[in-house]
Amino acid sequence: MKISSAPLNDYRQKHSITVVELARIAGVSERTVSRWANESSGVSEEIADQVAVRLGLTPYDIWGDDWYRILWCRVCLGPRDSTGGLCLECAAEKRRAAKRVGATKRLESCA
Ligand SMILES: [Zn+2]
Repeated sequence: MKISSAPLNDYRQKHSITVVELARIAGVSERTVSRWANESSGVSEEIADQVAVRLGLTPYDIWGDDWYRILWCRVCLGPRDSTGGLCLECAAEKRRAAKRVGATKRLESCA
């Protein structure tokens, strides 16, 4: 799950942190920081957390409410799984629903 790089860019500019410095802080390549800078790539949750901690902050200080939005299931707002935007239960329900839709379509095509 990735989060927008825009708030991090703003933070970097506001505090006059160079691309090289941020790359070192984040433990990523300068190329990656450049991609964040032109917003062609989001920041992964793990890196976002790492950057914030190394700056002596929490991710919330940089991303605000967006940070919490990516941490919770889009459907039930419970704690979500680490992959996708859903919790395990909602992800399972989505798979079941997809199967039901598939079955309905097959029945319709017989009629
Ligand atoms: Zn859920």
